[in-house]
Amino acid sequence: MNLRRVWILLLVVCMLLSSGCAVRVVEKPGASAPVIAVQDTPSPEPTPEPSPEQSPTPESTPSPTPTPEPSPMPSAEPTPEPTPEPVSAEYRRGLYSFDDLSYERPDYDALSAEIEDIRTMLTDGTDSETIRDAYDILSEDLNVLNNAYSLASLFSAIDVNDEYYSAETEAIMEKFSEFQVLVTEMEVEIYESEHRDVVFSDWTEEDFEYLRIAEKLYDEEYVRLNTRLEELINAYWDAQSNTTFTYRGEEYTLAELDGLNVNETTYYSLMNDYYRNLNAVVGELYLELIGIEKQIAAKAGYDNYVEFSYVYEYSRDYSPADALALAEAVKKYAVKEMEDLYSSFTSMEYTGLMQALNATDQIFRRKEHIDAYVDEISPEMREAYNYLMEYQLSILTDSDTSQAGAYTTYMPVYDLPFIYLHENGGYMDISNFVHEFGHFYCHYLGGWDSANLMSLDVKEICSQANELLFLPYYHRYNKLDTYNGIVKYQMIDALDSLINGCLYDEFQQYVFSHDISTVEELNEVFRTISRSYGIGDDDYYVDLGYVWVDVMHNFEAPMYYISYATSIVPSLEILEISLEDREEAIRIYNEVVRSDPELTFSETLEEIGLGSPFDEETIVKVVNAVVDLTGVGKHVKVG
Ligand SMILES: [Zn+2]
Repeated sequence: MNLRRVWILLLVVCMLLSSGCAVRVVEKPGASAPVIAVQDTPSPEPTPEPSPEQSPTPESTPSPTPTPEPSPMPSAEPTPEPTPEPVSAEYRRGLYSFDDLSYERPDYDALSAEIEDIRTMLTDGTDSETIRDAYDILSEDLNVLNNAYSLASLFSAIDVNDEYYSAETEAIMEKFSEFQVLVTEMEVEIYESEHRDVVFSDWTEEDFEYLRIAEKLYDEEYVRLNTRLEELINAYWDAQSNTTFTYRGEEYTLAELDGLNVNETTYYSLMNDYYRNLNAVVGELYLELIGIEKQIAAKAGYDNYVEFSYVYEYSRDYSPADALALAEAVKKYAVKEMEDLYSSFTSMEYTGLMQALNATDQIFRRKEHIDAYVDEISPEMREAYNYLMEYQLSILTDSDTSQAGAYTTYMPVYDLPFIYLHENGGYMDISNFVHEFGHFYCHYLGGWDSANLMSLDVKEICSQANELLFLPYYHRYNKLDTYNGIVKYQMIDALDSLINGCLYDEFQQYVFSHDISTVEELNEVFRTISRSYGIGDDDYYVDLGYVWVDVMHNFEAPMYYISYATSIVPSLEILEISLEDREEAIRIYNEVVRSDPELTFSETLEEIGLGSPFDEETIVKVVNAVVDLTGVGKHVKVG
């Protein structure tokens, strides 16, 4: 196996996403003033002041979080890592609880020395089998980097003010790019030596192709470009935290807006000022980031960053053109249903939804329903759930100093999947937990291979379809109106993944393949593309052109967003099947979870018999499923 695959995990740690922007308008039934609803916001969260009858305001979904401030000095001594023990027959993965996990800084020098030794062996008469063994051991040992990264980011998420772990997380990232250079140099030497056929005997044509790209890409200049990218990402998060607006001669952060007690018109006008200031700073950073990514793609031998990212960074088996075709189908068939859903809430549904969105301690209080759901899905899911509970393999926290959002990680040295989840309150804590538990379940069964090799798009079916299959359980402890409100809200969330997944991909495809030199041009591109999805200037409280700054993936993971759209389509198809035959839907879901992680996204769908998201018929089918489930809107037809 090509060592390049060792690096992939960093890119694809599930970022519980949710797309869109905090400041989108939803009609409240029976009231003229809109309230804020839905979606993902980087902190600080721009929540407008609700008028008395609108209270309570819905919580937004969790957002990915600011990278903590780097610190040059460790604030705590690392403790030694326990020696991994063999997995017991009872559970399939490592038997460590959270308390057993301790961070140890990787021995970078030892890893470098291992690489140096292999290079020496290539010319000192060592036989090929011995070199192959050394190469395989190195491949295992490099997992220490992934493990350390997972742990340091976890500890850093638990307390974002912990300077030691945030510095360690950054340091490991930097080391990754240096090791990419060293490993590539070594692999090129192996390739050019007489030992190639033995050492690379299991390499596929794709592995060799990646090596050819890596050879061009990874060098000192790459490390320099990559370091600059990291700096830009940090500057993005700094801007998110530190941008201010001016009111009566004083500077305020967005978090201070609520305390100003201004009327509604002033409130939104100040919010717009904030976004204008943020957009001006973030836009300049983005222009530089685009330039650097283009240089990286050019180094790798690609004319176009978009193509490079799809193929090399995400190993996708569909093209940017396929994604644009999906976007056209989404505009044609899905946008209207989204609009209909937004304005479909009855007063009772709305009131019930607001209560559900403000309920507290839901994961704990609804445990019996999560338990019942787990039993319904499969004995293996029950096993994974028992494992999670017995070994405490999740951190659920509502601490102010913990990172927002949620993700599931994997620590290869411990052979351990792990969930991190920040509770915002509201029923969505449950859906977020169920989402992450879908990843956990998949990694529990498939281990490191599923965590490391499975395509991002397939991974997100494991989580998103899990959320959708859980839907009927909300009926068990909610009144019918509340349940209907929740179902509509979840369908808005699903269509939002579909629509924004396409919208942001289209935006990124455009800006990464054109010469854009001003922030205003970026904003205008975003306005134009948004309007093509039926999004008007009135749909946001702030200038439509500023809205993109809230989506951190633009910085942290360009070209990632389309995976939200491609994976929600098969997930909705599983939901569609469940409306007629729930058992069959669950069977298909379990097949996805157990699918061969080496298969590509399209191969997996084909093997399981799910439709391609690039086929208009599939989009029509899933939109109609949303119509059937909610009773809102009209069926669509291909053509
Ligand atoms: Zn996910």
